[in-house]
Amino acid sequence: MDKRDIFVQIEQMEEQMGAIYSELGQMKKQIIELLEENNRLSIENQQLRKLLKNDAEPPVVVPHIHVTAAQAKELTGEGYDNLARLYHEGFHICNVYYGHLRTEGDCLFCLSFLNK
Ligand SMILES: [Zn+2]
Repeated sequence: MDKRDIFVQIEQMEEQMGAIYSELGQMKKQIIELLEENNRLSIENQQLRKLLKNDAEPPVVVPHIHVTAAQAKELTGEGYDNLARLYHEGFHICNVYYGHLRTEGDCLFCLSFLNK
């Protein structure tokens, strides 16, 4: 095998590696999109289940809705826990990137939101 053949082979390998590298990047993007979609669908599913449950037990109609301080605290507490859980599962909960996968570690927007 002469030197020219080796260089041609190396160039071909470089091209192949470049192609594989860009394919890898594409796959990474697709995985991120799928994870984000999965997250959106989970949230939607959870909300639909809540609606179904509410339909099964029709709410008592009252002229004025009084939410006690304890109930309000419970409601916001539950919402906070869900958001905290989402964040720890790797998703943004800030209004800047809400629902997107956190690909670069902690997000200052999310953290300031959690610390409120
Ligand atoms: Zn964020």
